Amino acid sequence: DPLVSAWASDEDAAADQTVRPKRMSELIGQHRVREQLHLLLQSALRRGSPPDHILLSGPPGLGKTTMAMIVAAELGAGLRMTSGPAIERAGDLAAVLTSLQHGDVLFIDEIHRMARPAEELLYSAMEDFRVDVVVGKGPGATAIPLDVEPFTLVGATTRSGLLTGPMRDRFGFVGQLEFYEPEELEQIITRSARILDVPILEDGAVEIGRRSRGTPRIANRLLRRVRDYAEVRGNGVVDLKAARAALRVYDVDELGLDRLDRAVLAALLRHGGGPVGLSTLAVAVGEQPDTVEEVCEPFLLRSGLIARTPRGRVATASAWRHLGIPAPAGTVV
Ligand code: ADP
Repeated sequence: DPLVSAWASDEDAAADQTVRPKRMSELIGQHRVREQLHLLLQSALRRGSPPDHILLSGPPGLGKTTMAMIVAAELGAGLRMTSGPAIERAGDLAAVLTSLQHGDVLFIDEIHRMARPAEELLYSAMEDFRVDVVVGKGPGATAIPLDVEPFTLVGATTRSGLLTGPMRDRFGFVGQLEFYEPEELEQIITRSARILDVPILEDGAVEIGRRSRGTPRIANRLLRRVRDYAEVRGNGVVDLKAARAALRVYDVDELGLDRLDRAVLAALLRHGGGPVGLSTLAVAVGEQPDTVEEVCEPFLLRSGLIARTPRGRVATASAWRHLGIPAPAGTVV
């Protein structure tokens, strides 16, 4: 896994447990969604009934799982966690749903990847708090209606465009998570360092924040790698010098680009800045088209280093500048 991938590695999963904010008040940034969620939860608590179902949408590593856990904590409710790909059969989901207790929060990560029969079962559970479990096969099959305790579904998706209409309609609240500002990442890094007992200077937190691609998960991971470097080669303090030296070792540059991102840019420049089609680009950097499209491109696009045109990807003037090559006339800005 690349160091600047926003998807969780096994190491992240373990490390996340320690630094993950547990209450709404510990969350940094995401002011809009936080305020909206706060109102939703407070009014539910006053009414004494579970809040509407909640959909959290946004790129990986921005805090969807964290918020789901916080929703349960703020409600004082039980939490069950699963994911779309883990629910292979409708029966698996029926078992989870019928075992929920009144007011529980059910978190389904990557909800857009749930199998269709399970999704259809979920509709009636969300709407009427009941499910029809089909027993038997063929003409003899019967549907047994089962009650489900009132619960709150928190769904998370990195690809809200892939959600079906009926699924989306059943959420009373949709929170769109945004990439974090560098100052917010700096705060997240400083907080994590405190929890991990890692001495850190402001310039170190600023530098790591700048290179974290707007993503807390990456920020926390880079912090751990800079800490390793500071402990082994430095004086144990995470400062600007340690951050720069460590991230040079790991090939993460000033903008947070890694080797593959730069290879993609370089390939574009070799083609005169583009337009270049995705498959050509993937071959040029020796990667799968999916990897280029899902791992590299979102950040390169967001940073304004590349642009998409109907004829393919093009490098912008910033990309030429970043790689230190004069841009040809007519380059898009
Ligand atoms: P997602 O579910 O969107 O992929 P997670 O909720 O697992 O992301 O977040 C990844 C890590 O980033 C968490 O373990 C947590 O430590 C950190 N994190 C996410 N959002 C915040 C936030 N708003 N404030 C502080 N840390 C955060």
